Amino acid sequence: MNVPEFFGSLVFNDAAMKERLPKGTYKALKKTIEEGKPLDINVANVVAHSMKEWALEHGATHYTHWFQPMTGITAEKHDSFITPTEGGGVIMEFSGKELIKGEPDASSFPSGGIRATFEARGYTAWDPTSYAFIKDGSLCIPTAFCSYTGEILDKKTPLLRSMEVIEVQALRVLRALGDETTERVMTTVGPEQEYFLVDKEIFKKRKDLIYCGRTLFGARPPKGQELDDHYFGTIKPRVSAYMKELDEALWKYGIYAKTKHNEVAPAQHELAPIFDSSNIATDHNQLTMATMKDIADKHGLVCLLHEKPFAGVNGSGKHNNWSMSTNTGKNLLDPTKNPRENIQFLVFLAAVIRAVDDHQDLLRIAVASAGNDHRLGANEAPPAILSMYLGDDLSEVLRSIMYHEEYTKKDAPIMETNAGVLPNFVKDTSDRNRTSPFAFTGNKFEFRMVGSAENIACTNTIINTIVADALCDFADELEKAENVPTAAEELVRKTLQQHRRIIFNGDNYSDEWVAEAQKRGLLNYRSLPEALPHYTDEKNIRLFGKHGIYTEVELRSRTEIILENYSKIINIEALTALDMAKKDIVPAVSSYIRDLAETASLVRSIDAEIVTLPEVELVKKLSNLLACFAKKIDILDQAVLGAKEVEGVAESATYYKEKVLAAMQELRAVADEMESNMSAKYWPYPSYGTMLFSV
Ligand code: ADP
Ligand code: MG
Repeated sequence: MNVPEFFGSLVFNDAAMKERLPKGTYKALKKTIEEGKPLDINVANVVAHSMKEWALEHGATHYTHWFQPMTGITAEKHDSFITPTEGGGVIMEFSGKELIKGEPDASSFPSGGIRATFEARGYTAWDPTSYAFIKDGSLCIPTAFCSYTGEILDKKTPLLRSMEVIEVQALRVLRALGDETTERVMTTVGPEQEYFLVDKEIFKKRKDLIYCGRTLFGARPPKGQELDDHYFGTIKPRVSAYMKELDEALWKYGIYAKTKHNEVAPAQHELAPIFDSSNIATDHNQLTMATMKDIADKHGLVCLLHEKPFAGVNGSGKHNNWSMSTNTGKNLLDPTKNPRENIQFLVFLAAVIRAVDDHQDLLRIAVASAGNDHRLGANEAPPAILSMYLGDDLSEVLRSIMYHEEYTKKDAPIMETNAGVLPNFVKDTSDRNRTSPFAFTGNKFEFRMVGSAENIACTNTIINTIVADALCDFADELEKAENVPTAAEELVRKTLQQHRRIIFNGDNYSDEWVAEAQKRGLLNYRSLPEALPHYTDEKNIRLFGKHGIYTEVELRSRTEIILENYSKIINIEALTALDMAKKDIVPAVSSYIRDLAETASLVRSIDAEIVTLPEVELVKKLSNLLACFAKKIDILDQAVLGAKEVEGVAESATYYKEKVLAAMQELRAVADEMESNMSAKYWPYPSYGTMLFSV
């Protein structure tokens, strides 16, 4: 396999453009990409023509504007290149206008009340900074999506805005600190993607997986993840074949798929790409998720991206590795050899610390989803409380600044292997902390609260904006300082003193931390309905308004969409649970009871003297459970009906969590108890053991 040869072969990338576009056009397009200059229609026409020729050569017949509406997943509407000619033939055409602008009917995408359905006009606009690519015979053109009246309706536009905002502010800080050469600052992201694989035939037998992406019932299997034998374990041949084909497919899309391994839970795996600009990383992550599903299907598998498909074993997240780098290739979060002397690094680090502390609410909101609620705060993922891990070494540096103390750099310790054949090596200066939600990992921050199914655009829009806001204030201060080095050091010191409560290097999963965090005054929004209403707090409207990310109307509409979506998801889950309970579980248990009772009376007819019969005991037990189950069905039925009476999106979401979800959990507990006491032959669904160990 010659990877360099086919890498990016399905992408109209820089190499393809350079090769095919006239020099002038290529230059004009590059200017647009690199400097954000508007694109001339004549240039667009030439680009469109080349792009089409290239696409036809690669077997495409259609094109689509590929965008990310607020549903989070990507949307596409395909048009063919055909244009009729006289005499009943066709030619393949594609104009600059078609490249740069599309008009999908926007009425069926969520807009949170921004746009009434009768004014359904929406526009997609080409994002030339993200390369077009070919998927399933269509030329896909990454685009932004907005309404006729100009409000944004997607996830890409705010991300692009936030990247511009943080660039401006970072450059101001760099200039103030004496950097005259850096011209561009780009935020970079490497999202590590976790997922589960289950056998397709088994998947098809579970309505809950089909409708909800997660199991709503299922007794614990005898073996889960307690032996820790899956993490980094040998990859099974079927999974390995899947991963191999997945890598190939991603490489053709120009995605730097790099690392793959088994994760903690059985049937759980991870894929990590090499980092890229936030915008490209987001598009690529969307494409990666779609490709994971497509390839799984070919292998008789189903890829589950839900945050919590199975109770009792780890859920899936997406570690969002984030940093900032310059056009000169410098990583602004690289501590370098002596961070104590690197004031530029310290200023940028301080900005992130301030941002996270000031906007814990927004980071929590960024990762809120019905699926992720099952994960955050459970004993596996980071808790719902935001805190930052900096490691011992960096904490020492910051201490010395805060308290005006001497800092002596510790030499990196040597690891002695004590086995002659093994080399001794230099260790990292600090260990990792796997439990921290926002951890400094050498030269980047790893935000670990993001859910596996989520679009990372929202998370990164928020990280970029809050850090930009801190940098903006820092720049204001540094620009007017007389002695910049002293002012910068003072700025770092003041920031640390004000925000040190957000730094926590200990175990984030412990109960002590929850109590300690409360003492420190850190936020703890345990669920989406609790967190989301704060999106439109005065402070946040001001923040997003100041930096031109969201208007108040846009922010309110987004809040509404997220809350509504949460209620809808739980409603679907509740209806699925009821369907399964009534149509499958009750009949299964009752027929098992009948067979047990028949056996018992048969035995008695042979030997009337027999006193205790195991069948009779089991009949009693299961009958009691079934009666209880029937009551729980009733309660859930009522809860679902009651939802119609609740007014207001926030109130409704709270109701769904407190009443409907709670009733589902009680229903499940009884079902799982029955399953544990039933003959496997009678239980209507594949068991947890079968699902988790099926591949
Ligand atoms: P781990 O699983 O130990 O956290 P990995 O090596 O699997 O580490 O993943 C680290 C991720 O961080 C990769 O996607 C990598 O590309 C990304 N990354 C590395 N440097 C940067 C950076 N400067 N900015 C953003 N992401 C980065
Ligand atoms: Mg990681």
